[in-house]
Amino acid sequence: MRPSGRLHLGHYHGVLKSWARLQHEYECFFCIVDWHALTTDYDEVGQISQHVMDMAVDWLAAGVSPSSATLFIQSQVPEHAELHLLLSMLCPLGWLERVPSYKEQQERQHGKDLGTYGFLGYPLLQAADILLYRAGVVPIGADQLPHVEFSRDIARRFNHLYGREPGFELKAEAAIVKLGKKTATLYNNLRRAFQQQGDVEALETARALLKDQQTITLGDKERLFGYLEGGGKVLLPEPQALLGDAPKVPGLDGRKMSKSNGNAIFLHDSAETVEEKIKRMPTDPARVHRSDPGNPVRCPVWPLHEVYSGEATRARLQQGCREAGIGCLECKGPLIEAVCKELQPLQERAVDYQGNPDLVRNILAEGAEHARNEARETLTEVRLALGLNYR
Ligand code: SF4
Repeated sequence: MRPSGRLHLGHYHGVLKSWARLQHEYECFFCIVDWHALTTDYDEVGQISQHVMDMAVDWLAAGVSPSSATLFIQSQVPEHAELHLLLSMLCPLGWLERVPSYKEQQERQHGKDLGTYGFLGYPLLQAADILLYRAGVVPIGADQLPHVEFSRDIARRFNHLYGREPGFELKAEAAIVKLGKKTATLYNNLRRAFQQQGDVEALETARALLKDQQTITLGDKERLFGYLEGGGKVLLPEPQALLGDAPKVPGLDGRKMSKSNGNAIFLHDSAETVEEKIKRMPTDPARVHRSDPGNPVRCPVWPLHEVYSGEATRARLQQGCREAGIGCLECKGPLIEAVCKELQPLQERAVDYQGNPDLVRNILAEGAEHARNEARETLTEVRLALGLNYR
């Protein structure tokens, strides 16, 4: 996540809630990508470190926990930069120019020169962020799909160029023997099911089987991952996108909630501020007077009710709106209450972290240490594949 400072309800429902769940289902790495902030805000660097700290506090307050996941700052793991550099050698320029957000953002950020080397290369930096941990899945919103696809393309190109070692098949067969008789038979059956019948489930089962193997070397493991699909050694596995089904939380004016749109309810907003913001929200434009019937479909408040209010409340409010039985302030009441109730425990936790910045810094430093250990393993393999091995 780019360090944009204090987070809002859009981040909470769209990302943080799912991270808090995923951290119990996967080994998770959550990274504050401060270098990415520089790709567009290279001329406004004064706030970055504060934004990083604020964001870390909000993550922790929202339940993303250092005991279940690795939380760290990108620039504290310099291996991201090395992998980015190495991948840049094989990344065709045309691939970067074709990433949809390249042109879009350049047009949106008019007035700022984004014809920079760093901005053009940011999807590659993002690919390095992902591939460095040989991530299986990347939790994203649909708008990020082209970026994960780009990471997959880069991984494929890298594997194609450097995964084809001499005698690959013989080495892979020898590695199968090292799995032990039972596991080797299972591996062969699953491989056959995938290669002969296209059984994708068998491929996934075989991958999981390999992941758990402690008795073979990392190199053999990669060979066997590659052998499953019939190619060479898989040095950088292709990540899959994990699309969330989080509800969209619109901003106070019905547009996408964002700090720059000035329409956000922040996680740190006091109950009074939340109340004031929601009370000021526009409603169905057709409801000029209290006696005018309204239509929730046309009302920017309604999508928030869909996130926060139960079925019975929604049915009551819908009817009240359509029959002009209730006023808009009355309709907003349960919403204000529900948002404040949800934010209260988060804010209590945030106070603890804000009062102890050393604790937050330590959490991020320990996270960086753990991330570096993982990253170094990948880079050792990558350097070796590129012939940069001088030991
Ligand atoms: S009653 Fe509620 S849903 Fe209807 S227009 Fe007012 S705020 Fe919107």
